Amino acid sequence: MERTLAIIKPDAVSKGVAGEILSQYEKAGFKILAMKMLHLSKKQAGGFYAVHQGRPFYESLCAFMSSGPCIALVLEAGDAIQKNRKLMGATDPAKAEPGTLRKKYATSIERNAVHGSDAPETARFEIGYFFNGLEPVDNQG
Ligand code: GDP
Repeated sequence: MERTLAIIKPDAVSKGVAGEILSQYEKAGFKILAMKMLHLSKKQAGGFYAVHQGRPFYESLCAFMSSGPCIALVLEAGDAIQKNRKLMGATDPAKAEPGTLRKKYATSIERNAVHGSDAPETARFEIGYFFNGLEPVDNQG
């Protein structure tokens, strides 16, 4: 079993599709181990996306991610990281496969509805950014 960090981004929360997205994580076979809604400050968004510092879209991305509440989740499944990347689809919704979350819910390459960790090291960092070690519920059987 593997864990990944997912975020339902502010665009999807404000569109009112958070419930639909949660349902699709469950239907895809992910177990939700932790979940919280929070409104990031620009600085907190910047810390999460620190790897992108210096990219032309960094400022705009941080403004978007702090524009309203988002929902952070720890998802568990076999091969959870790749499984969630597949469920999300490509970063740019114009290039995302039909049926993927980004194809269904994204507005643009920036306002693209969901986040998912892209590798085991980033998943560890990202889960730790939002949740303490006791928060993910691992006794669900
Ligand atoms: P991801 O792993 O698919 O989320 O993509 P990246 O790690 O490359 O980028 C992080 C986030 O930055 C994306 O999910 C988008 O919200 C945003 N982003 C990525 N590329 C661009 C871009 O070219 N322009 C803008 N405005 N935003 C981007």
